[in-house]
Amino acid sequence: MAAETGADNQALEEKHDVLKSTQTVIHKALEKLGYPEEVYELLKEPIRMLTVKIPVRMDDGSVKIFTGYRAQHNDAVGPTKGGIRFHPNVTEKEVKALSIWMTLKCGIVNLPYGGGKGGIICDPREMSFRELEALSRGYVRAISQIVGPTKDIPAPDVFTNSQIMAWMMDEYSRLRENDAPGFITGKPLVLGGSHGRESATAKGVTICIREAAKKRGINLEGARVVVQGFGNAGSFLSKFMHDAGAKVIGISDAYGALYDPNGLDIDYLLDRRDSFGTVTKLFDNTISNKELLELDCDILVPAAIENQITEENAHNIRAKIVVEAANGPTTLEATQILTDRGILLVPDVLASAGGVTVSYFEWVQNNQGYYWTEEEIDEKLEKVLVHSFESVYNTSETRRVDMRLAAYMVGVRKSAEASRFRGWI
Ligand code: GLU
Repeated sequence: MAAETGADNQALEEKHDVLKSTQTVIHKALEKLGYPEEVYELLKEPIRMLTVKIPVRMDDGSVKIFTGYRAQHNDAVGPTKGGIRFHPNVTEKEVKALSIWMTLKCGIVNLPYGGGKGGIICDPREMSFRELEALSRGYVRAISQIVGPTKDIPAPDVFTNSQIMAWMMDEYSRLRENDAPGFITGKPLVLGGSHGRESATAKGVTICIREAAKKRGINLEGARVVVQGFGNAGSFLSKFMHDAGAKVIGISDAYGALYDPNGLDIDYLLDRRDSFGTVTKLFDNTISNKELLELDCDILVPAAIENQITEENAHNIRAKIVVEAANGPTTLEATQILTDRGILLVPDVLASAGGVTVSYFEWVQNNQGYYWTEEEIDEKLEKVLVHSFESVYNTSETRRVDMRLAAYMVGVRKSAEASRFRGWI
């Protein structure tokens, strides 16, 4: 049964405070853009943060009270948007930072949204299907007043999937007494989901890798790629890289990593992974996640969790390009070290924006009641991501700032502008 690990989470979060580091870069970005201090005061924290308690009757008859959060960073541009994660390490600060990152993603790919994010402290790997359904429905009832298709639109994130989105959409529709597919994205196709949503984050990362490789003169055919994490983003990405002719020489999950200098059999690993992306338990000759990150390779993709590349290991990273598929995998100190070492870092808020882009397409389809083909989705996603990569890369070159600061500058501008036009600041 899931345990609340709030105290452990506090300790973790004090070491690498993701909210503080995000605020540092937001401050710098606004300064570079010439905005006065009050714009920072508005944008440094979510405008709304709801903490809820969700009682769930567990399979053994006991009642367990879960803690959940929903943060809405800024709704000047439009409704807020962002996923819900189910994870034992969820904290209030992390959810706040994640909601700010969603504002940046939506700004970079130019969607009519601000950022939002939700999380529940739980371990879905230790919960039954029935318990998960009760938790998902309970969470929607608890936050229902502040969410909705024109207020705040949730989506999947770490350890949540289309089934969970379906339960949540059903609960919301029942509460409102009408069918509300536009309440949430990442739904199954039959419930108004979009073609291409499941693989969208990985597709966006793939486009960023391709564009970054062009800038560095690396041929993807035969390039050595290391992917940390084998969840939604990591698994699809490994497949796309493999199909593009690259050699995926390392992958990992929460329990260890696999390495083969000649390239791993990705199709076999995909076939054997469980729904949480666990696969390394099936092998004896594993390496550690630390060793994986320091492998000699061309492209490194952290696609797992936060704070993986820090000042402790940034000097040992041997990749030429680092593309962040996870949210917040590299600390600010490590960003500086990688940039100084000439490694091209494609930041999370750009590289992982493919997911929310196709979520937006899903919401548009729900609103108009007319659905697009996979080809149409792919074509639209390609255009958006190529354009976004170029604008961040060009900002980085012309303003002589690292790619993360450039991405923040591109990403924060829209919310700042919109807040001004509305007369808030
Ligand atoms: N959870 C994803 C992210 O962090 C997707 C959010 C969405 O589709 O709204 O970008």
